[in-house]
Amino acid sequence: MAIKIQNISKTFNCFKAVDNVSVEFPDGKLTALLGPSGSGKTTLLRLVAGLESPDNTNDSKILFNGKDVSKNDVGKRQVGFVFQHYALFRHMTVFENVAFGLTVMKKKDRPAKAEIKRRVMELLQLVQLDTMYNRMPSQLSGGQRQRVALARALAIQPKVLLLDEPFGALDAKVRNELRKWLRNLHETLHFTSIFVTHDQEEALEVADQVIVMNQGRIEQIGTPDDVFHQPANEFVMQFLGEVNVFSGRIDKNNSDQIHFTASSNTDTVNLMIRPHDFEIHQQEQTEKQQIPARITRIQTAGPIVKIDFCDESGKTIIVHVSHEDFRNMKIEDGQKMYLSPKQLYVQKEC
Ligand code: ATP
Repeated sequence: MAIKIQNISKTFNCFKAVDNVSVEFPDGKLTALLGPSGSGKTTLLRLVAGLESPDNTNDSKILFNGKDVSKNDVGKRQVGFVFQHYALFRHMTVFENVAFGLTVMKKKDRPAKAEIKRRVMELLQLVQLDTMYNRMPSQLSGGQRQRVALARALAIQPKVLLLDEPFGALDAKVRNELRKWLRNLHETLHFTSIFVTHDQEEALEVADQVIVMNQGRIEQIGTPDDVFHQPANEFVMQFLGEVNVFSGRIDKNNSDQIHFTASSNTDTVNLMIRPHDFEIHQQEQTEKQQIPARITRIQTAGPIVKIDFCDESGKTIIVHVSHEDFRNMKIEDGQKMYLSPKQLYVQKEC
């Protein structure tokens, strides 16, 4: 099921939560809606589902496989939902929860009892909970409950699966496992899904396509690699991970020459460098553009070492290196070093 949205807006009491958005969610792909709190992600998801109706404009459309469904209510759109707070029925077993959507179907559409059992057990196997089919939700962990919620959403064979921060309430380890697990499930079943998150790592790891939203608008649409390595603008660059921003300039006569200080008679630009995109040298290198800076803090953070530098203007520069590189460099607090960017992103100041 391919979904296309054209010129969709949603206004709540004069506030535009979604502002003239047009976007496609490709068939069989997992798209992440990524953005800060209040950027309109959930509202866009609810518009796709039919839980909100868009502002009335002549040219707005919500197309499911080319058919305009904007006048269809939620029941007719055949969407499955998984929300942040697993809304399982507490008085029902795992099996009954997953079977629920099938058992309440109209008689003419409802599968036979044996078929319901087969489908539910197949889904429970898929989410690796078949041995727990008889448990009550209170006897499950948070991660297991979310897997039941996912199986339940998939049971009705939805055309599209909508997930609103489905792992938001879980701890980091379980969250991480469920991400991988959702990705695997997606590779097995190939349903079209839209996944709301404000966690950039989650979006980059799980999605085929990432839509970065800000203030009700789309800042960029692309693959995880696109949005991370070729951000469309400063907002995307800043939102997708830590970044060091310098005010600098580019030589008018030689655009390869970049300087890390602004000047009144050249074009000022923003130079943005990710913490892992620096080379660190003990000595000044004449052939390279460098930033002299002193180490102010060294901190081990899991697989990387975070080093804070202070440049000559007093600005803090954050650099990440591997443990191996760190050991080889033999550096210590207070030492003066020279930083040169391996990769930088240039944006002209407005
Ligand atoms: P979060 O990550 O915090 O869930 P979000 O990106 O999903 O945020 P939305 O929930 O879509 O953002 O909300 C976008 C804006 O619309 C917010 O400013 C919110 O307060 C507003 N909004 C959402 N729903 C309503 C509503 N029913 N009535 C009034 N304002 C609303």
